[in-house]
Amino acid sequence: MVTPKKRAFIAPSLKIMPRIQRYANFVAVVLPFAAFIAALVLLWNSAIGWTDLAILAGMYLISALGVTVGFHRMLTHRAFLTYKPVEYAFAIAGSMAVQGPVIDWVADHRKHHAHADDEGDPHSPHVGGGTGLRGLWHAHVGWLFETNGQADRRKYAPDLMEDRGMRLLNREFPWLVGLSLLVPFAAGWLLTGTLVGGLTGLLWGGLVRIFFVHHITWSINSICHFHGVRRFATDDRSTNVWWLSLATLGESWHHNHHAFPRSAFHGLRRWELDPSGLVIRGMRRVGLAWNVVAISPERQDQRLA
Ligand SMILES: [Zn+2]
Ligand SMILES: [Zn+2]
Repeated sequence: MVTPKKRAFIAPSLKIMPRIQRYANFVAVVLPFAAFIAALVLLWNSAIGWTDLAILAGMYLISALGVTVGFHRMLTHRAFLTYKPVEYAFAIAGSMAVQGPVIDWVADHRKHHAHADDEGDPHSPHVGGGTGLRGLWHAHVGWLFETNGQADRRKYAPDLMEDRGMRLLNREFPWLVGLSLLVPFAAGWLLTGTLVGGLTGLLWGGLVRIFFVHHITWSINSICHFHGVRRFATDDRSTNVWWLSLATLGESWHHNHHAFPRSAFHGLRRWELDPSGLVIRGMRRVGLAWNVVAISPERQDQRLA
């Protein structure tokens, strides 16, 4: 029996997220990890083919850019404008990263900026989940079972709630997860002409890829608020982590991003590798992006700590 005292102790984490959602998130975290282990065992016996690697790389780029350029820079921070169909295409690509429906993602992330490393931040390694390694774990994965998808959409994402197309993509998220698995399966099948090719495509380009994109993205929430370098005066504890810049497609210049959240470019210096920023530059060049927000060197200098 749960005594009132015990209930008071367990209530904070249990009352905020429906049980079914916690189970779904558990499957979304554990299944790709199990697939990664299965893939390692498979690799031990028979080598991974070039086709699988190509599908993995292609799906990684599509779903990760969907998150970095689409969910994050375009929809959360409005760092540039584009045509509606392009917005929806990025929203679909980002949904295929299996990090939750687009409007929930945006609402959670805007809440993160509104309360960065303070009470109310859904995933800070410094508040809400303890400190040290416990805090790091909370910011990386633990928050998915407590505060994920709980930000008030009407408060944090009213613009997306007014968009019928975005509401539809948000509601039909489970189908987009299916698409995220179907595309690598179909690619493997078509490229090799065998069902086994389809299944290894699904394993590497589907589940293992989701595993990588998950942990790379979550590293921004955990490592980039914990360890690294800072140069601007900001109220949070965000950091730049150079060795994550390629894998995160430029998002690990996270301290730059907290200093200038609307900037389309997170890498602010010449050597700060920012593949997502390059994609936005390319889109601007071919007329697919306009009103691209950039921060002048003078404005950057004014914010130096
Ligand atoms: Zn942050
Ligand atoms: Zn942001």
